[in-house]
Amino acid sequence: MKNIKDYSLDELKEELKAIGEKPFRAEQIFKWLYQEKVISFEEMTNLSLTLREKLVQNYTMDNFGILQKQESSDGTIKYLFDLLDGNAIETVLMSYHHGYSICVSSQVGCKMGCKFCASTGINFIRNLSSGEIVEQILAVEQDAGVTISNVVFMGIGEPLDNYDHVVKAIRLINHPKGLNIGARHISISTSGLVPKIEDLAKENIQCTLSISLHATTNEKRSEMMPVNTRYPIEELLEACRNYTKLTHRRISFEYALAKDKNDNLEDAKRLVNLLKGMLCHVNLIPINPIEKGTFKKASNENIIRFRDYLNDHGIVATIRRELGSDIDAACGQLRRKNLT
Ligand code: SF4
Repeated sequence: MKNIKDYSLDELKEELKAIGEKPFRAEQIFKWLYQEKVISFEEMTNLSLTLREKLVQNYTMDNFGILQKQESSDGTIKYLFDLLDGNAIETVLMSYHHGYSICVSSQVGCKMGCKFCASTGINFIRNLSSGEIVEQILAVEQDAGVTISNVVFMGIGEPLDNYDHVVKAIRLINHPKGLNIGARHISISTSGLVPKIEDLAKENIQCTLSISLHATTNEKRSEMMPVNTRYPIEELLEACRNYTKLTHRRISFEYALAKDKNDNLEDAKRLVNLLKGMLCHVNLIPINPIEKGTFKKASNENIIRFRDYLNDHGIVATIRRELGSDIDAACGQLRRKNLT
């Protein structure tokens, strides 16, 4: 059966025309789905009974079941959702002073094999549809009783490896008649798929692009992130410079600090040289050690020294607050514990 949340407003109008209904009904359905946030067609009470029956016969709402839920003492909640086809994905709800933020998955598993990531142990199974991406937000809001104001594509999967569905989901999340979350409150994080960064620059979406950089030499980066052998640092940063020129949006570089791997001042110096003059910001991440992982968290002293060096040399850098460290909040961990 077709998932009703996989359709854009224009596509849904066409679907309704095809079943003999007036296109304006699509706007009513959108309102029920994304503003009233109902979980069944029966609740769409301004639609005729006949239309509701047609919807039940032709479409599913694809509401996720919760397989597992872990709550951290800092308010972070990590969900393991049942995708109805036997697969499971993780979604994390985080509470900040400015509101609720959600970290969504974009694929079941991942092909990228980053060495510091718990998803590395999970083979790629399939892409999520745009409806399954959006459903993560709806399901969390429903369960936690909150309204989400920020969305980050930083869960399991490489979002740009599922480009079409992710872009479609972003448009639905951002659409005034969809979830109506401002594009500037949507952030997409990539391991560095250069051709897709170039495509994204042309989409005219004002979302924030985050690049998982994590190292300052090709040797080190390729060791941590095999994608670097395909798209080395120079090519990646060239695509980033073009992205900022075209979109006038600041890029956020993610840099997970691992003890004795990439946390010394030589790395900080190289990072300054690489990013000099770019419209950007560096987000330093105290690494979340994974079980049997080879990366250890850098010391607080090194993290602060690294940040200060960047800030003193013209690169704005902040340290990401560690959320949910008591509940396996590095991506992939909850799923791996359950499924392997
Ligand atoms: S960090 Fe992201 S891109 Fe890399 S393996 Fe993990 S999920 Fe995939």
